[in-house]
Amino acid sequence: MSYFKPLEIEIEAYLDKSLVKQIYQAYLCAEQAHSGQMRVSGEPYIVHPVAVARILASMRMDAESIMASLLHDVLEDTPIDKKTLNEKFGKQVAELVDGVSKLTQISFETRAKAQAENFRKMVLAMAKDIRVIIIKLADRLHNMRTISALEVEQRRRIAIETLEIYSPIANRLGMHKLRTELEELGFSALHPMRYRALRESVRKGHGNRKKMISKIEKALKESLSRTRIEYIKIWGREKNLYSIYKKMRIKGLAFSNIMDIYAFRIIVKDIDTCYRVLGIIHNLYKPVPERFKDYIAIPKVNGYQSLHTILFGPFGMPIEVQIRTEQMNLMAENGIASHWIYKSKSDNSTATAQIRAREWLNNLLELQYNTGDSLEFIEDVKVDLFPDEVYLFTPKGGIMELPRGATPVDFAYAIHSDIGNSCVAAKIDRQLAPLSTQLNNGQTVEIITAPGARPNSAWLSFVVTGKARSNIRHYFKEQKRVESIALGKRLLEAALGKPLKKVGKKNINVILESYQFEDVNDLYESIGLGNQIAMVVAQRLELGYAPEQVGSLSPTPQPLVIKGSEGMVVNFATCCRPIPGDSIVGELDTGAGLIIHNEQCPKVANLRQRSERSIDVCWAEEIDSEFKTDLRVEIANHKGAFALLATAIAEAEANIDTISVKEQDGYYHWVGLTISVKNRVHLAQVMRRVRKIKSVVKIIREKEGL
Ligand code: MN
Repeated sequence: MSYFKPLEIEIEAYLDKSLVKQIYQAYLCAEQAHSGQMRVSGEPYIVHPVAVARILASMRMDAESIMASLLHDVLEDTPIDKKTLNEKFGKQVAELVDGVSKLTQISFETRAKAQAENFRKMVLAMAKDIRVIIIKLADRLHNMRTISALEVEQRRRIAIETLEIYSPIANRLGMHKLRTELEELGFSALHPMRYRALRESVRKGHGNRKKMISKIEKALKESLSRTRIEYIKIWGREKNLYSIYKKMRIKGLAFSNIMDIYAFRIIVKDIDTCYRVLGIIHNLYKPVPERFKDYIAIPKVNGYQSLHTILFGPFGMPIEVQIRTEQMNLMAENGIASHWIYKSKSDNSTATAQIRAREWLNNLLELQYNTGDSLEFIEDVKVDLFPDEVYLFTPKGGIMELPRGATPVDFAYAIHSDIGNSCVAAKIDRQLAPLSTQLNNGQTVEIITAPGARPNSAWLSFVVTGKARSNIRHYFKEQKRVESIALGKRLLEAALGKPLKKVGKKNINVILESYQFEDVNDLYESIGLGNQIAMVVAQRLELGYAPEQVGSLSPTPQPLVIKGSEGMVVNFATCCRPIPGDSIVGELDTGAGLIIHNEQCPKVANLRQRSERSIDVCWAEEIDSEFKTDLRVEIANHKGAFALLATAIAEAEANIDTISVKEQDGYYHWVGLTISVKNRVHLAQVMRRVRKIKSVVKIIREKEGL
């Protein structure tokens, strides 16, 4: 009797006396059947079914579910069979117990390894009577609460299964409260160290957060009272640790960024008030544009309803606010399970949830008839259960799992970093597609690579996976090192006026030691990046050689020859866009390498005053590259004038990179052009051709003040 008492108190609160009696009978049956059995913790086995029943009672589940939960392990572990259950407690309870027992026999290693057939069985059992999975989830919750009694390996396996299979199902069914607890327990069982570290960090910031939360809470309450709007409850929420952890991992956010968000919930009496509260708080703090979501008008697929908005709070801190009715809140916490709470009443919001969950399950059943193939079926279901991922196929039929929004570049890096680094194009379902295309579920993706191809820094703007991002960054870092070394070597030799080989080895070593460089490449890299001044290093090299002859032996620097093909460490200033033929000056930019300015650029005068940063440069004799430069053309608005302009530039064999038009007075336009040319002679040819166009009034090269 003692184990039944706490359960009895809970069910008496919402169930009829006669039902409580029936539940007691189920309890007696279970207690007798399990008598003598112990849990790993040493307690009598009956403690477990009673605890599961209490979880369901806290969700106000119906009597049949409570009875089935008390009996959920008898078929598996005791001599009682389904027929007996049927006779004693009716068909419904017997079917529920049978369904839960069948689920218990299914075990999933991980989502990826989940056997298609098993998963299908599970979904089918759910579809027959959704209460089966609700009981199973409560069973799992209690097992997770008591998981510390198990061995480490077993703990790990169960935690993974919980996080990968059961918590997504709870989420899909809208059972937020249960899901959150499953995740917290799963996280702490799987990663006890990370869990503790995160909990500690949260605890540390707790005092300050609490002050801020109560301050915002007060402001919200006051503005509602002023307008005489009644609210039932307002509170600041703490984010759960697993969701913080997931955000840090998936979105790569720092702990402080996540904790900077304050979350509030406002519960009111009806839908009308929800919208009025929204208006008032938008008046109190400015809303962040495009972050408002109306899940009342358009509920989520699991039936969830609420208004969501994000506000700019005090000191610009983002505040997340959820506004909903009490019923919506119950729905948000218990999801599908809340159907049984209000079974007798006709409540619209919970009815919606029930209908939506049914629809989903019916769709699953239909899918299963249509496909017949379990693998295909599981893929379809997975898409529904794990909406944040897309499942893609390799041309050979392998399955890749990527986060939603992933592109062919993410796909390429997911296969292998070499494939990512050398990919040039992609075929999606056998059609060529841009590398930035967002991939959809079920697509077959083929990556086309080319030897010698290299990543493009623009990829960083659209890749979503950490793997792609870090590989691309790593590539550029490596590349930059190679190019910095080459530039540094040339800068130093230009400053010395002779090859480094002609400087004694002893002197080089003295220098390396004084800068604490491992080898000469580190020295070159540092010079190439502008962290060391080549001239200073050159002088020290000479001094080390013969300190008493400083004057006579100081180096005679040569200008550094610029070819335009040096790569990332030599850049051409966008303020003055020098091209071969222009007089140029080099600016050493710490950490970035060398920037080449036109000598007439206004920035050069400034640069000359910091002589250690400016270096002499000159163009190479033979240059193969093209260089960007800006032109401004005043043109009359004749028909076809722009086409003529473009044709003239093309005929002069120059490329137009960008073009912008500014109307001057309706008749004349200023056209801004960025074009690529070989050198000044080439530019002059372009300008000559453009001048010949009748509509062109004026053409000037920008920034040179011609
Ligand atoms: Mn159990």
